[in-house]
Amino acid sequence: MKKITIIIPVFNEEEALPTLYTRLNEISNMITNYELEFLFINDGSKDNSLEIIKELRSKDKRISYVDFSRNFGKETAMIAGMDYSTGDAVIFLDADLQDPPELIPELIKYWEQGYDEVYAKRRSRRGETLFKKFTSKMYYKVLQSLTGIEIQRDTGDFRLLDKRCVNALKKMRESQRCSKSMFSWIGYNKKEVLYDRDPRIAGKTKWNYSKLMDLAIDRNNIIYNFTS
Ligand code: UDP
Ligand code: MG
Repeated sequence: MKKITIIIPVFNEEEALPTLYTRLNEISNMITNYELEFLFINDGSKDNSLEIIKELRSKDKRISYVDFSRNFGKETAMIAGMDYSTGDAVIFLDADLQDPPELIPELIKYWEQGYDEVYAKRRSRRGETLFKKFTSKMYYKVLQSLTGIEIQRDTGDFRLLDKRCVNALKKMRESQRCSKSMFSWIGYNKKEVLYDRDPRIAGKTKWNYSKLMDLAIDRNNIIYNFTS
């Protein structure tokens, strides 16, 4: 039986984790032809997230986790997830249920048809300000013109990747990562599915504009270039 690893980066998500587990469990009852692995990456949470994950693990052996010594950021959590995944495919899923687990069977369906990557594209973004939508649009515009490769718009990290893609991404060990561009960079056979992005189930976004700017322009490199 083939295995699918669901990689879940977690930073202070104690309120969301119980509901996430319930929704994942419900959906996994519909996926009978694959073994599932739920791989949580605890990215230095300061709340009870780790204790909740450990508690879930004691009851459900499909759960495993990596525990970071501090907060390294979602990008690093994602590469750790790929390093420790044992599945024939991985799916990145946010813990706050903005990525509906109910879409997972559709992602798998297209993988079975032979696509290496099935990415979820947002049809709508509820709970986000006009300013956020505008800056996001501008970010894509600049990224697209700078990289010269086709970057998928209105997508987050929610997607299924075949092991072939995972192996390619694992070879790219840069510490200042922007997975969104890297998914496009590696190529392979891609398929889009549409979904409506829900607001967070609980808690607050872990991003602020300073962090988003870091991701967008790689501030560390710019500082390095100016000072060297
Ligand atoms: N996350 C993480 N490390 C961080 C920030 C976020 O692992 O430093 C996780 C977070 O717990 C969530 C996912 O990454 O599961 C997406 O974060 P968030 O919802 O804050 O981002 P947004 O949806 O607002 O872009
Ligand atoms: Mg979110």
